[in-house]
Amino acid sequence: MKKIFIIILNLLVFQSFSQVLNVCSQAKIKNYSQALKKNNASNFQMEQMEKYDVFFHHLDLKVERTSTYISGSVRTMAISRALLLDTFVFQLYRSLNIDSILGSGQQNLTFYRIDDVAYVILNQPITKGNLIDVKIYYHGTPPDGGSAAIGSGFSNKSSPKYGNQITWSLSQPYSAYEWWPCKQSLQDKIDSAYIYITTDTSNKAASNGLLKAIIPAGNGKHRYEWKTNYLIDYYLIAATVGQYNEYINYAKPKQISDSILIQHYYYNKTQAYTDGIKDMKVTATQIELFSDLFGLYPFYKEKYGHVMAPFSGGMEHQTMTSLGYFNFELVGHELAHQWFGDHVTCATWKDIWLNEGFATYLEYLAEYYLFPASAAATIANIQTSAKGGIGSVYVYDTTDVGRIFSSRLTYNKGASVIHVLHYLLGDSMFYNVCKTYQARFAKSTATTEDFIKVVNDITVKDYRFFFNQWIYNRGFPFYNVRWNYANGKLYIKTTQTNAQDTGNLFSIPVPYEFTLSGKDTIIYLQQNKATEYYEIALNQTVTGLKSIDPDNWILCEKYMSKDPLLVGLKEDTEHLSIKMFPNPAHHILKFFNPNQIKFKLVIFNLQGELCLSRDMNIATTEFDISLLKTGIYFVELTDESGNRKIEKLVID
Ligand SMILES: [Zn+2]
Repeated sequence: MKKIFIIILNLLVFQSFSQVLNVCSQAKIKNYSQALKKNNASNFQMEQMEKYDVFFHHLDLKVERTSTYISGSVRTMAISRALLLDTFVFQLYRSLNIDSILGSGQQNLTFYRIDDVAYVILNQPITKGNLIDVKIYYHGTPPDGGSAAIGSGFSNKSSPKYGNQITWSLSQPYSAYEWWPCKQSLQDKIDSAYIYITTDTSNKAASNGLLKAIIPAGNGKHRYEWKTNYLIDYYLIAATVGQYNEYINYAKPKQISDSILIQHYYYNKTQAYTDGIKDMKVTATQIELFSDLFGLYPFYKEKYGHVMAPFSGGMEHQTMTSLGYFNFELVGHELAHQWFGDHVTCATWKDIWLNEGFATYLEYLAEYYLFPASAAATIANIQTSAKGGIGSVYVYDTTDVGRIFSSRLTYNKGASVIHVLHYLLGDSMFYNVCKTYQARFAKSTATTEDFIKVVNDITVKDYRFFFNQWIYNRGFPFYNVRWNYANGKLYIKTTQTNAQDTGNLFSIPVPYEFTLSGKDTIIYLQQNKATEYYEIALNQTVTGLKSIDPDNWILCEKYMSKDPLLVGLKEDTEHLSIKMFPNPAHHILKFFNPNQIKFKLVIFNLQGELCLSRDMNIATTEFDISLLKTGIYFVELTDESGNRKIEKLVID
């Protein structure tokens, strides 16, 4: 398609227009079968835990690949935020036995437990700013079927394809306490952590940061000693044990002279190597690409890595992603989280789109830059999935783990909205926003409001309207466009509806691709109201409206038709006397036709596909719609004079 010239009407000043094609990938597969309701600790318990600030954990655990049984100790060092802290509160699943809890002087501390929370009586109250140092010895079998986004907090299973039996953790969002004593607070990042795992010498153990040593531990065991000095959220600490081979490569981002270690633990099977090697290698290219786009890989002084575990999808454990299989989009998604999720973490689970929307969008960007041929299909897939999501991107109910990790709303609509923002801002401003967000909230957490502030600061405009419409409220625009060319003028009437939230309309410039004197030409029209009329004087003949939003930037549905009757802005189609009912309808749609006129009935679905079209005669008062599936449709009624109306119809 050639773009000969561009007319900008009634617009925001438009930034440089990047030609990002859309590629989207559906790679992130989450298991939503557990749409369970789950709370973190109670507000009261969380308040008790906010009385201290964790700065160090030392997990020293025994784990085998044959079961989820776990034993060992976790030392926590924290600073009191309370004037006087006499009780140290933490979370640990009730079925795990606490053997003892030692204070800093190795003395036994008294504790009691209520459900999944433990209360430790400190020997003497700790004043504000002073150190709490507690070591918890525990053992037991973590619960099966916990509240993690994928599976349980701690799982054991064999890979159906490769046969490897693996024990692995997956704590997001509320399952860290199912395998280790902790404080599940997103906003209290741990400054540094040691994760030591003692296991059979036939196993490797994977975790965060750098593998500092493998120490013989007697009785056929050895101890993997991992250490990280980067701030880390509780749910990003992970332990995985199994029989692996190791593949190592390096990324060489241009921002530093050193290279970055990439450590892959793949199942010790030739087939696993054959299946994964291409994507293990491409990980380096993706690290370099994302470093260019969003700033240097945040954990470059340690490493990046992959460890395989038999679940579907991946989990962005900081510096060591766990994944079920290797695939370009999945590798890109979890790597993207190292910036969006790990380096800058959503401050609450309500803001999870800042993690998952971006990670999903970066799958597309990776494809756009590295495999551009498939990019358009990728974003189209993301948008198609997003349109099936009912609700807002913002998560109002964080007790519903299935909702937090809704692939349609959190992942794909989140990514689709970021794509619209990218369109509005243009490449340079968009990447500036992303880099500023990374820099401003580095090693910290951010809310949706924080992100809006970055957008407003960089653009020096107020984009709150955009986030209200696209993130906090529901739905997406459906554009019904009629156009006509007569007497040297182009007439356009656009009616915007939102099937999910009638009060929420979307005010953005929409690109229309018209054929003007044989040339394809983009015209941007700002739509702020439910119905907009445009009248454009042209000295060229308009022969067709080829498409609306031809490059697929906007999450929307569209329907367009040429209307010879549209010859002035005063035209009024609201006087069509026919009424349809009931709505919602079930099998039968009825009509009230007081003026006994003939009319045409057209029904199309949310995707804009024509489902039914009938000429109705005067005597028709009922119409059988039992062939249509339940769902939301649009019904267009047109009388012989061209009066027309479009109404939403719900079929149940
Ligand atoms: Zn993700």
